[in-house]
Amino acid sequence: MAKKLIVAIDGPSGAGKSTLSKALAKKIGYTNIDTGAMYRAVALLARRRQIAAADEQGLQRLCSELRIKFVREADLERVFINGEDVSQAIRTPELSLLTAKVAACPAVREALVFLQRQMGEAGGVVLEGRDIGTVVFPQAEVKFFLSATAEERGRRRYEELRGKGIDVDLQQTIAEVKERDTADSAREHAPLKRAEDAINIDSTKLSIDEVLVEMLRVIVEREQRTTAVTE
Ligand code: C5P
Repeated sequence: MAKKLIVAIDGPSGAGKSTLSKALAKKIGYTNIDTGAMYRAVALLARRRQIAAADEQGLQRLCSELRIKFVREADLERVFINGEDVSQAIRTPELSLLTAKVAACPAVREALVFLQRQMGEAGGVVLEGRDIGTVVFPQAEVKFFLSATAEERGRRRYEELRGKGIDVDLQQTIAEVKERDTADSAREHAPLKRAEDAINIDSTKLSIDEVLVEMLRVIVEREQRTTAVTE
């Protein structure tokens, strides 16, 4: 039987990570772990409790009380924090910007990386985020770094938000994507960075299906190679 691998998909916002990791996980029977949703959940709780992004102790306390759960029903993935379904509330543009600030806090990163390792260490998982291949699972058997131009990523996010009935402006969405890129790449702890051994995929001119086919090809090849070595 093929060994169950750890698949890491990192990259900036709007590059298609969520869609691809969900589709990939479904195709190969792996569990999908959306680590961005975990950072978003912490940001939502912080905002509700009026804990500032700079208040490291407050955020640390909040993380110690955090009970996060992913529930999958057919094609839908819901996120619960402390028993409440926050799947919609964590996806607003304002919360995206606050999340990038909260995610710069070392105590938050430490708490969430601990949980992510627990969830993924047995393998058979696709994790998507910013630091999976560099920090969370540097030993992951398959690493992808998915990118696209900021304009294309902004356009995709704009379509996605409009599709959900959220009224946004295209230029402002592109500007917010760039603002988040800067915050995620410039932070001191676990910045957005391509792991040296990650496979780079530029999705600017590729469809989701084209990227999916390429990712599947790599995973199947690695599964076979890893199984052959361990047999
Ligand atoms: O992927 P998503 O857009 O949902 O991530 C929201 C934010 O969470 C990112 O802009 C980033 O600041 C943070 N994040 C992170 N590390 C991860 C995943 C997300 O810092 N592994």
